[in-house]
Amino acid sequence: MEKTKCLIIGSGPAGYTAAIYAARADLKPVVYQGMEPGGQLTTTTEVDNFPGYPEGIDGPKMMEDLQKQAERFGSDIRWGMITELDTSERPFKAKVDDGTELLAETVIIATGATAKYLGLESEEKFKGGGVSACATCDGFFYKGKDVAVVGGGDTAAEEATYLANLCNKVYLIHRRDELRASKAMQHKVLNTPNIEMLWDSEVKEIVGTESGFVKALNGAVVVNNKTGEERKIDIEGFFVAIGHKPNTDIFVGKLEMDETGYLKTKADSTATNVEGIFAAGDVQDKHFRQAITAAGTGCMAAIEAERFLS
Ligand SMILES: Cc1cc2nc3c(=O)[nH]c(=O)nc-3n(C[C@H](O)[C@H](O)[C@H](O)COP(=O)(O)OP(=O)(O)OC[C@H]3O[C@@H](n4cnc5c(N)ncnc54)[C@H](O)[C@@H]3O)c2cc1C
Repeated sequence: MEKTKCLIIGSGPAGYTAAIYAARADLKPVVYQGMEPGGQLTTTTEVDNFPGYPEGIDGPKMMEDLQKQAERFGSDIRWGMITELDTSERPFKAKVDDGTELLAETVIIATGATAKYLGLESEEKFKGGGVSACATCDGFFYKGKDVAVVGGGDTAAEEATYLANLCNKVYLIHRRDELRASKAMQHKVLNTPNIEMLWDSEVKEIVGTESGFVKALNGAVVVNNKTGEERKIDIEGFFVAIGHKPNTDIFVGKLEMDETGYLKTKADSTATNVEGIFAAGDVQDKHFRQAITAAGTGCMAAIEAERFLS
């Protein structure tokens, strides 16, 4: 059976950065890219906040560059999904969806997380043209404009207050009559003058214009689920903040996770509860969820894997 010193699962900023560091440390990492080679950033057109790109960069291009950089030092980057990981003994046995089996002395898990969306057809249509799941990433494009956030938890409250600093007005749409967010966050939201709460409300449709590939969102139809009353709000940005799902299904029962499925890592470290297995990027981070923080923890994981082996 094939053996590797370091298996990296995932090819987003965390996985590729781990690969750059692990390859330069001569661990000859094997990287499995998964169903989304390049990760979440391949679904966006413009990344403006990753250091080193003064003019901004196209998401897929940035991930292509990261892949090339990892390959330059000898990372073995492969198409394929890891379907099983035996964490009970080292070296760890991993299975790939094409039937390959590998033994890995260390494993870096960088499988990311997936934003949850409402599931509306019109929402899908305007993704990248006004619909976003990340205020920190895309809020800047709506400076001075009117936007809406949908959700009622801490993330929605944080996204709404972040956007309220940038935008003219923020509608916070929530299907219940009170927020689930912490009391402190609720207080902040309810006392921010340019946030208008739309209680008991659900989004029926997102509307806008389309001309060729250019899409411009200009509103949302919101329904009050108690009265049935419909209302169109005029907005240019629509932020979905109903949570993320970490891609950890294959690690259930094998690695320690929190109650929402994020992998747990030790303080100031990427070490999981199993020695020799590390986790980097969004799969272990529900707070920041940025390319730069994913890359940062990818770097940490590779350094920790190298130190563990030596
Ligand atoms: C539309 C959009 C725009 C964004 N814009 C920005 C921005 O402007 N700036 C910014 O900093 N952040 C932005 N983000 C957030 C950023 O993309 C993420 O924080 C970052 O990509 C997380 O990196 P990651 O490496 O942890 O995981 P991801 O990028 O999620 O990558 C996960 C990888 O794991 C792989 N994988 C999953 N399961 C398996 C498996 N079983 N086997 C093998 N591989 C597997 C996937 O194929 C994928 O390659 C944006 C996100 C989205 C969705």
